[in-house]
Amino acid sequence: MYAGPVQDLIDELGRLPGVGPKSAQRIAFHLLKLPKDDALRLASVITEVKERISFCRRCFNVCEGEECELCLDTRRDPTLVCVVEEPRDIVAVEKTQEFKGRYHVLQGAISPIEGIGPEQLRVKELLARMDAEGIAEVILCTNPNIEGEATAMYLARLLKPLGVKVTRIASGLPVGGDLEYADELTLGRALEGRREVEA
Ligand SMILES: [Zn+2]
Repeated sequence: MYAGPVQDLIDELGRLPGVGPKSAQRIAFHLLKLPKDDALRLASVITEVKERISFCRRCFNVCEGEECELCLDTRRDPTLVCVVEEPRDIVAVEKTQEFKGRYHVLQGAISPIEGIGPEQLRVKELLARMDAEGIAEVILCTNPNIEGEATAMYLARLLKPLGVKVTRIASGLPVGGDLEYADELTLGRALEGRREVEA
């Protein structure tokens, strides 16, 4: 519809999550109107983040270097692992100050509608950690919505036969919501009140 680079920009923006064609156009024209320095600053933080930040090779949290600060912290209990969907959920759990173990980021949740199955998630990597790190308890801290529950059930069925304790954060969190929107107190209580999963 537009000349080369403008259309390229609209196409790239349209690939971002939650950005439809209309929003992509609106953001593209906003960027075109911005002073050059402002627009280039955005371009340079994208470049910088892609050059310096990657995912922790152990837990898939965002990190600079090979392993994240949480995995490298020897004061944390390595036998207790909290499984979350995204790195931002780690921030939510850390804010509660209730958890002193390690994490594992799945990088998503099972969603048949979006075509996301266990093989698209970091499930194999979690299984590989179980024995290698002597993990004794896995807390399933996926979101309290359909995808999060399905993911927790799937993981429970996979992990229980390994003889580890598998727990799920207690209800009381707003159903259908995201962990990151839960307040610290509610999430802290949900962690404290976690129950062993029957499978
Ligand atoms: Zn890590």
